[in-house]
Amino acid sequence: MNFPDLAIFERDGVARANRQITKALRKGQSLFVMVVRLNDIQKLCASYGHKMADEIMEEFFKRLVDFANDGDAIQRIGQQRFVVLLNGLDNRGYVTLAAQKIERITRELMTKYGKAPVVRAAIGIASGDTPGTDAQDLMRCAEIASLDAHLKGQPHAFYENAGPQHLIESWAMEKRLSSAIETGQMRLHFQPKLCLTSREIVGVEALMRWEDEKLGTISPDVFIQLAEETGQIVELTQFAIHHVCRQLHDWRDSMPGLNAAVNVTPSMIRGNDVIDMIKSAAGIWDVSFDALTVEVTENALLEDRVASHRILKHVQALGAQVSIDDFGTGYSSMAYLKEIPANELKIDRSFVGDMLEDEMDHKIVEHCIGIANSFGLRVVAEGIETKAVLDELSQLGCDFAQGYYICRPLPAAELLNWYEHQFKAAIAV
Ligand code: C2E
Ligand code: MG
Ligand code: MG
Repeated sequence: MNFPDLAIFERDGVARANRQITKALRKGQSLFVMVVRLNDIQKLCASYGHKMADEIMEEFFKRLVDFANDGDAIQRIGQQRFVVLLNGLDNRGYVTLAAQKIERITRELMTKYGKAPVVRAAIGIASGDTPGTDAQDLMRCAEIASLDAHLKGQPHAFYENAGPQHLIESWAMEKRLSSAIETGQMRLHFQPKLCLTSREIVGVEALMRWEDEKLGTISPDVFIQLAEETGQIVELTQFAIHHVCRQLHDWRDSMPGLNAAVNVTPSMIRGNDVIDMIKSAAGIWDVSFDALTVEVTENALLEDRVASHRILKHVQALGAQVSIDDFGTGYSSMAYLKEIPANELKIDRSFVGDMLEDEMDHKIVEHCIGIANSFGLRVVAEGIETKAVLDELSQLGCDFAQGYYICRPLPAAELLNWYEHQFKAAIAV
């Protein structure tokens, strides 16, 4: 089957940056992570159209690559966000100089486009020298610092001057999130899951999106964490479960038999709320429980084993599925794995993306498939960006696949359009 050659957005993004940071941290190299956020992209789109605005972003990306030294790494992680990994710099003075250079690159690019609206860079910087910091912490800290820089109108900010607590107090991000929830600004996108044996789309994963008019696009890694800290996660999870059930109801004729997965955070699998939400939403929208999957990360389960097992067993007793997300990044022992109430393992995308180039990643993926088989669990690989990786996973006996190569997460209407016009057409070829 040939998949449609879709324009791949955010290709090589977060997962690749995560892997590069993890490798640098493992080698004990001194490093700084920068998140460069270009603001007012919406104005650029309004003036030039999306295609031109995207070309400008591509050019900005190329200029960043030219600016980088050997050992540095640049990734695009969103429409308006880039990650710069500065390796081997141990002096903040040099990092500040690098940030100023990126500001200059932005100014020069915008001058080239003459009458373009002013697009400014807001650069957040996090240092890798704090013991115990992992790649995801560093990316999150750099994201928060870049939001902080943007809100203060400064070109750049180091993380220690920001901090989630400071951000919450000073900039009332929590209030903005509340109001976004209340006024219905939160959105769900859906990414399809392909069965590697039947080559059919068997499910979708719901992924939340928040576009704030002042802050721009905020990564779910930032706002889900914030919601978890402030308790707003209850409303967000409720929104996700209801929206997913409503969507399954709407799709029952166009995509019959589809399963939909909702991500659930550690705090939500310690109490009964999630069970009540599933019962209520499935009842309202007349959705069968077995059309629903609850995704929890491996680490969330380790936080409070007794409570999380109780809730997940309850989820299974209803007839819904349980999937262990980001599998391979936690510390589950074999003895523990056999007790987990789960139907599925999802291999973390940080191992899948590079598995053909990185022998160790390949071994980890093989091992995860082996573990799933021996425990009688289905196995899903996420983060598939190329046909070669998809073919390799089929060879290895992986059951399901998810990733930009198949389809990126899309709003519901676009997903249906993709399914009917591109996916089905590709099968027919
Ligand atoms: P996750 O559940 O592991 O979701 C998969 C992430 O991988 C998504 O990032 C998705 O857009 C991205 N992805 C999918 N295919 C590819 C690919 O081929 N390459 C790469 N590089 N990435 C790919 P996203 O949407 O930014 O979400 C990040 C995380 O935020 C999710 O990780 C999940 O933990 C959390 N999240 C998102 N939506 C929700 C939600 O509604 N509730 C909760 N509790 N968490 C959510
Ligand atoms: Mg997930
Ligand atoms: Mg995952």
